[in-house]
Amino acid sequence: MKQDIKKRRFGRTNLWITELGFGAMNLRMLPNRQQGIDLLHHVLDQGINFIDTARSYTGTCGDGTYVESEEMVGEVLSSRTDLTEPIVIVTKGHGYELAPLAEDLAATRKALRIEGLGDEMHIGQTPVRLVYFLHGISDERWEVIQKSGVLPRLRELQKEGMISFPGFSSHYPFPKEIKEAVDTGAFDVVELPYNVFNRSLGEDGELDILKYIHEKDLGIVNMKAFNGNSMLPIYQVLREFITIDYAKMLNFCLSNPYITSVDAGARSPEEIDADIAVALGNRPSEEERAAWAAEADKVSGLMNDTCRECLHCLEKFSCPNGLNFPEILSVYSRMKICTSLGKDVEQYKKQYQALPMKGADCLECGACLEWCEYKLNIPKLLKEAEEKLG
Ligand code: SF4
Ligand code: SF4
Repeated sequence: MKQDIKKRRFGRTNLWITELGFGAMNLRMLPNRQQGIDLLHHVLDQGINFIDTARSYTGTCGDGTYVESEEMVGEVLSSRTDLTEPIVIVTKGHGYELAPLAEDLAATRKALRIEGLGDEMHIGQTPVRLVYFLHGISDERWEVIQKSGVLPRLRELQKEGMISFPGFSSHYPFPKEIKEAVDTGAFDVVELPYNVFNRSLGEDGELDILKYIHEKDLGIVNMKAFNGNSMLPIYQVLREFITIDYAKMLNFCLSNPYITSVDAGARSPEEIDADIAVALGNRPSEEERAAWAAEADKVSGLMNDTCRECLHCLEKFSCPNGLNFPEILSVYSRMKICTSLGKDVEQYKKQYQALPMKGADCLECGACLEWCEYKLNIPKLLKEAEEKLG
């Protein structure tokens, strides 16, 4: 049943999107493909009109089926005949130079089954708008982007009607590059991480980047409202020490006045329904917000220098030595947090021992370093993991 989720203006795109969006990254983590298809239908049935996906959100479901998030979104939207208002799709590619940009965009439009140009864009009978992102701008990537010609090309693609609006995503370590990218005027939308545990791109930053971007009239998508995938297992431990639950985490982000839409990566209809209940409820007062932030600060330091299990590093890279380094780092990160909290860590030692390759197998070549969005010193952490758990 369609819910009355509030819509907010998506900056100067002048699109209006639901303040709760659907992050399609987790479709690859479900037990099977059909559950992802059913979940997407459920999301649309509730009136959510904003879907956030990416070319690289691919993976293997629990039953071994390879899935592509964009392709599933395309399949579901092409089967609908009831959606008369445009569905706004954000998707992202790694095209930091002209040739990969053209290749990625063509692959995206095909996977999403997009036909038509500009305001005539549609998937089956569903009208859509395509907000196309440069994925994960970092210091190295920003260097390339500025020289490669993709910035003017994005505006040309918009004029040609291939995309509706250009945007980019980035992460905590890159406030300088984010501001520079915004200042170019080449983008209309930005996607950034922000949550009660890490407000460094918001009110806790040297510059409140979210406010800055909002005042430039760009739309803002908030990712990692729950502090990344790693929160799921880690929160089981942290919840003994803090009173913040998932509803508060989401409500904290929804109450930030600069954010257009919070991208909640639900994995089931029940999870999205719980998120919608929060969106339909009241927002915290300034005092409540401050109290939640203070509560989060009791444990947020524990998340420093830990792997967030986001798996973004493996979207376009694999270790030349065949090491599944996020798998090793996730065990080590959980062990480190539990140690800091005085909890038993025996289970992590057993998990580490059972891994096919371990920290000791790292050749310290450093090839993985540029792919970690948290700028973790992966070889150093792998070495520590071996020392503590090996
Ligand atoms: S530093 Fe280690 S984990 Fe990273 S790519 Fe090299 S061998 Fe693989
Ligand atoms: S190593 Fe970095 S990018 Fe890879 S999963 Fe961990 S935090 Fe994410």
